[in-house]
Amino acid sequence: MTSARAPALSVRPDLDDLEPYESPQLPARYRLNTNESPYPPPAGLVDEVTAALRQAALNRYPDRDAGALYGALSGHVSWPSAGIWIANGSNEVFLHLFLAFGGPGRTVMTFEPTYSLHTLIPRIAGTATVRVMRGEDLKIDVESALRAMDEHRPDIVVVTSPNNPTGSLEDRSTVLALLDAAPGFVVVDEAYVEFAPPGSSVRELLDANPNLIVTRTFSKAWRLAGVRLGYLMAAPEIVSAMERVRLPYGLSALTQAVGERVLEHAADTSEVVGKVVAERERIAAELEARDLRPTPSAANFVMFRVPASSRVWERLLAAGVLIRNYAGVPGLEDRLRVTAGLPEETDAFLLALDEVLDG
Ligand code: PMP
Repeated sequence: MTSARAPALSVRPDLDDLEPYESPQLPARYRLNTNESPYPPPAGLVDEVTAALRQAALNRYPDRDAGALYGALSGHVSWPSAGIWIANGSNEVFLHLFLAFGGPGRTVMTFEPTYSLHTLIPRIAGTATVRVMRGEDLKIDVESALRAMDEHRPDIVVVTSPNNPTGSLEDRSTVLALLDAAPGFVVVDEAYVEFAPPGSSVRELLDANPNLIVTRTFSKAWRLAGVRLGYLMAAPEIVSAMERVRLPYGLSALTQAVGERVLEHAADTSEVVGKVVAERERIAAELEARDLRPTPSAANFVMFRVPASSRVWERLLAAGVLIRNYAGVPGLEDRLRVTAGLPEETDAFLLALDEVLDG
């Protein structure tokens, strides 16, 4: 018999008040709450990967350096392999980044409201966090950002553009001003950049700015959230420092096989991105027409304002449409966020919304 005894050790003291990450997953006919793609991965990809796995010796450890994947990605983004870091989702890229460059005595700055993992991951790695509020328009207010940077001297500044959950794209001049003032690194999380207008990425600033890091993911536009694949681009010196925190064989043979092959489907990927962007624009226009004040979005989702937002959210869920409620988040109290997906999902959302608002 086991006796119910308290564990001999409690959690690390600096994690004592940290809440585990939870993204509420509830059963619903239409799941428009986590910014995934409703479209399956490119036709043929799963067969290609299966064929590759048949040839692979899965009883052996995978290629530790994931050479073929690095090579393919380097060609795709036109940035040297030595300046690329690939991990199991961009969340893990951030974890590696903060294990290498954050930690005790280091500080990260974020612009809130933003993706909550951008403070959670640094904290897991023992990094102090400073949160600066965004302006009225939910974009970074450059003046208050520069003031806060001057006061706190953050080692790492994280910019999410387009931002989650607001969808806002930061101006190039904002990123340049932060790069200019930053004592350490500026990380630009471009998880949603494929949905933004062409030319929105700050990737081209990498050459001239050795303190810039750009992160990306295969979870959104590439429709591979289930695979867990993300990467960063930075100066090779940054990447080689990160090798210190790398666990051996971190990318499975399966992950490598998918990543190597999906890049050959770039044309199909942009076609599907175009369809999602069209739905985003339709959702924004419909919300605007209902006076629900959507925040201009360059991502695959739209945030909007509605009185009694929690009640609206609950009633949408009862009608089978699950979206995201931000009632508990400072600055977003009356806002909801809906993912753009299939035209029929938009239809179902709008129909349910009208019923709720009329009822
Ligand atoms: N960055 C942002 C802004 C996100 O919204 C998300 C996922 N919702 C991620 C990163 C994490 O992506 P991944 O699946 O690559 O870990």
